Amino acid sequence: MSINLLNYDGKSLVDFCTEIGEKPFRARQLLRWIHQFGIVDFDLMSDLAKSLREKLATRAVIELPSIMSDYAAADGTHKWLLSVGAGNGIETVFIPEANRGTLCVSSQVGCALACTFCSTGKQGFNRNLTVAEIIGQLWIANKKLGTCGDVTKPQTRKAVTNVVMMGMGEPLANFENVVTALDLMLDDHAYGLSRRRVTVSTSGLVPAIDRLRERCPVALAVSLHAPNDALRDQLVPINKKYPIRELLAACQRYLPAAPRDFITFEYVMLDGVNDSVSHARELVKLVQDTPCKLNLIPFNSFSDSGYRRSSTEAVKIFRDVLMHAELVTTVRKTRGDDIAAACGQLAGQVKDKTHRSARLKVETTQ
Ligand code: SAH
Ligand code: SF4
Repeated sequence: MSINLLNYDGKSLVDFCTEIGEKPFRARQLLRWIHQFGIVDFDLMSDLAKSLREKLATRAVIELPSIMSDYAAADGTHKWLLSVGAGNGIETVFIPEANRGTLCVSSQVGCALACTFCSTGKQGFNRNLTVAEIIGQLWIANKKLGTCGDVTKPQTRKAVTNVVMMGMGEPLANFENVVTALDLMLDDHAYGLSRRRVTVSTSGLVPAIDRLRERCPVALAVSLHAPNDALRDQLVPINKKYPIRELLAACQRYLPAAPRDFITFEYVMLDGVNDSVSHARELVKLVQDTPCKLNLIPFNSFSDSGYRRSSTEAVKIFRDVLMHAELVTTVRKTRGDDIAAACGQLAGQVKDKTHRSARLKVETTQ
């Protein structure tokens, strides 16, 4: 079977080139053709000798997830539904802003962590995405937005300037593949993004936060959503395994290695659940010793969620309590909700392999 070169980062491409009797610098050329120019046909890689192109064609392929649908929202947001085989689909969202373009990338088909307010979590878990399927999302976005492929202008500014691992799935539960994809995002011969512009968002897998710090410290966002363990246990069940105190300690350990001098805490605003003034005060006390920014996310609904979005007024009051305590606080603007592309609405197509009872087992044994 041919190997898919999209699964390889720079280092493994060097190993591959050595294995097939080629010089290591060929790996750099391959990286640039594939990731900078968006070329998947070996015949078009004009600075590779014909004999090498033929050798590659017999041993390797460059295979991307296929696009099932392409949606564009009124505000310029794009969402792609990508097929990853066996009836499964994942979603990727591009959010253009004045001075940057952010791609929200998925890491798993579904998610086993079952946060109660999350549409992905409600669907159960099927499998981890491969490196090719993760980096393929970035490849496809740049290609579809028309910012690669011009070999004469390799410095063309790519549409995607920032990546957030905030799509479907828990990135740190698919650690190796996510880190290899991050390596490609940061590699100057591939996407060349700065560490500050690549963010991993996690619901709080403490040992994996430590491993990320050692392996690939990019910007870190932590989904907090509650100011105490009793409430967080209900909303984010993995909290029972890694309670808030341990999570905050992992954030403190992460900071010296982080490319930014703060951690982002995400806090989804659920009407009557976690959005009162006393919750805000409790949150202030909780995070006061951790250099952080708070990002309040108005809840995005989906069918049968059982939750309502906090009122604009409640969000404002909550934000003001945090800001008076000198916590830098932003309220996430809802983008692309007319195409169900907002946070927590990404559903894709998940053939659930872990039914509820099995999922609960995953949570308690992880
Ligand atoms: N699994 C990771 C990353 C994917 S979710 C994590 O949980 O951090 C990205 C963000 O969207 C998280 O902060 C998540 O809690 C939030 N989110 C999930 N469902 C949501 C919803 N329905 N409305 C608003 N935000 C939601
Ligand atoms: Fe998984 Fe994140 Fe959704 Fe929780 S919020 S179920 S960790 S994707």
